[in-house]
Amino acid sequence: MSEAVVLGAGIAGLWTAAVLVDRGHRVVVRTAAAPERTYSAAAACVITPLLPWDPTHPKFLEAWGWYRRTISKFRQIDAAMDLGSKFLELMPSYECGFESGGVRYLEKGFSTSRFQHLPFTQLDEIELNPPVTVRNHVGDYHQCTFSASFNADYCNTEVFLDWLYRYLLSRGVSFVLSPVRSLKELLSLEQGLVFNCLGIDSATIFPDSSLYAVRGQSMFVDDPSPQPPYFGVASGHHAVFKHRRGYYIGSYFIEDESRDRSLPSRVEYELSLEFAQSSYGELCERLGLVARAPDLNRIRRVNTGLRPYRPEGPRIEVDEPLLAFGSGSKRIVHHYGHGAHGWTIGYATAEDCVNLAEVRGWLPYVRRH
Ligand SMILES: Cc1cc2nc3c(=O)[nH]c(=O)nc-3n(C[C@H](O)[C@H](O)[C@H](O)COP(=O)(O)OP(=O)(O)OC[C@H]3O[C@@H](n4cnc5c(N)ncnc54)[C@H](O)[C@@H]3O)c2cc1C
Repeated sequence: MSEAVVLGAGIAGLWTAAVLVDRGHRVVVRTAAAPERTYSAAAACVITPLLPWDPTHPKFLEAWGWYRRTISKFRQIDAAMDLGSKFLELMPSYECGFESGGVRYLEKGFSTSRFQHLPFTQLDEIELNPPVTVRNHVGDYHQCTFSASFNADYCNTEVFLDWLYRYLLSRGVSFVLSPVRSLKELLSLEQGLVFNCLGIDSATIFPDSSLYAVRGQSMFVDDPSPQPPYFGVASGHHAVFKHRRGYYIGSYFIEDESRDRSLPSRVEYELSLEFAQSSYGELCERLGLVARAPDLNRIRRVNTGLRPYRPEGPRIEVDEPLLAFGSGSKRIVHHYGHGAHGWTIGYATAEDCVNLAEVRGWLPYVRRH
């Protein structure tokens, strides 16, 4: 019998299963959807530690540590791969911003000064004169007067999730494709230890009034003969990443759209296409970047993802009330609520929640040589 069940097969659940199996534990993953159909597969996976903004914030050091450990794990996996199969691509990124009241913004609310404390964001600012007009949303235009460039690690989410899934299968992890419908059903599972990695759906079983969803839409576009250089160009809610497998077109967060609707929206789709076909080319030209517009006949997938936000950051803790309140021998460790940073910090948070179970004595200690 498996010692632990992991609920969810997004990036949080798969990393949790990987940490468990790598430490010698037997694990089963129970999920409503296969990895490639999770919200994690809709993400761009740009590994950038942008949270919290204030370096003196008590959580800053913790978040920075999570990022450092997660990126090290990606690099460690990459070190064993062939050159052409490596997951991380160091991606020059150009964020085209606008000015308001004498302040330079990359996006609404994100002034350039908020990035200065992060070592990777030694923002290199390029002036755009005359400005480039970008349509952010219906009736909402902005004038890009500058572009800030920085390097970010990009990973193709579909490709990496598939690799991690296959790795887990090769290590004996089994997957059960079936939703858990209630706490009662959960408490009747045969495994005593449960890792809750249900993302935004966690609240359907474990009520959490602080958890809310922020939608984002994305498209994967194939390119049969991708040519370097590879880079990302973004402005407002829109971005195009030209990477070595094709294009990723993101429409990150659009105001006035229902935040928790998980179906693709026509307006976001059309605005994304408009950005990819017009503003993207103009911005590339002005930045001296060689790019051809993505071939929109080759759109392979359009996804909408719901980011699981918690103002306090991810919940990595034992469910003490449930433990005290007659959950029998069931021990639940929560691992959800990564907001826009599940890819950036997910491996380290998975390690932390497995550590929690270990120090409680809920996992047999496996001696490693
Ligand atoms: C458009 C977009 C762009 C993003 N870009 C980035 C980025 O650049 N960098 C970054 O770090 N992060 C990014 N994110 C955020 C990141 O994707 C999330 O933080 C991450 O996907 C959360 O992962 P998760 O495993 O917690 O949730 P999910 O991927 O949602 O996985 C939840 C799992 O739970 C399962 N489940 C749900 N209900 C049940 C049930 N009742 N029973 C059993 N299983 C169930 C689901 O099937 C799924 O397997 C982006 C997100 C979006 C949407």
